[in-house]
Amino acid sequence: MSADRKLYEGKAKILYSTEDSEILLTYFKDDATAFNAQKRGSIIGKGEINNAISAHLFRMLEAKGIPTHFIDTPAPNQMRVCRVQILPLEVVVRNIAAGSLCKQTGLAIGTIVNPPLVEFYYKNDDLGDPLLTRDRLLLMQLASPEQVDQLDRAAREINEILKEFFSQCGITLVDFKLEFGIDQHQNLILADEISPDTCRLWDNAETDPDARVMDKDRFRRDLGSVESAYQQVLQRVLAQKV
Ligand code: UDP
Repeated sequence: MSADRKLYEGKAKILYSTEDSEILLTYFKDDATAFNAQKRGSIIGKGEINNAISAHLFRMLEAKGIPTHFIDTPAPNQMRVCRVQILPLEVVVRNIAAGSLCKQTGLAIGTIVNPPLVEFYYKNDDLGDPLLTRDRLLLMQLASPEQVDQLDRAAREINEILKEFFSQCGITLVDFKLEFGIDQHQNLILADEISPDTCRLWDNAETDPDARVMDKDRFRRDLGSVESAYQQVLQRVLAQKV
């Protein structure tokens, strides 16, 4: 059996095993999907950009005491990570109303969400990643009551750190999605990625509602200049030393 065996291929990343059973290798792809993969495309250079942005943000979060799965980046589109058992949950944090929150509640896009909203979605393509209540989450045994509280606390803490970081980049962190895993010592670890694919980011220098978009909504909504927006996020993120 080869050491670097493909374990899983997702929409934006491929996961490989390595010689060390506790370390996995993530390969970031240029492929982009939206609307539960009904829309497909490619964003040139996205893999390398998202890898670099995620690595920088994970390093920054680690420095502020948040445990993450990040180890290092052996190549521009590759990240070595600690093996964790990923919880089948998308933890979404919202500071400003956009996307599905507006669609489902009628709130106007741009409405300030204070205190921030923490939501749990079930990672299940067949079911369309439904929004879960805390009770449903417990009913489905997707996490223990203690883990739900821990996830909520961690998501809020990470939000405060990221909000402040992006603000220093001249970017408003509208909302974002996190994924967590459990390591071999039962610790809750931040996993997956944090990138313009998984965050809504608005350029503070732009007031026009389309021009300010620096994230995957440019792809979802065919706004154009997707690559240059991602590049711009990368440049601003890397300019902030950790
Ligand atoms: N998000 C994500 N993956 C998903 C669903 C959402 O990374 O499968 C991110 C999305 O980019 C946004 C936030 O989570 O930053 C909230 O997304 P929302 O629920 O509004 O869903 P959307 O309408 O964008 O699909």
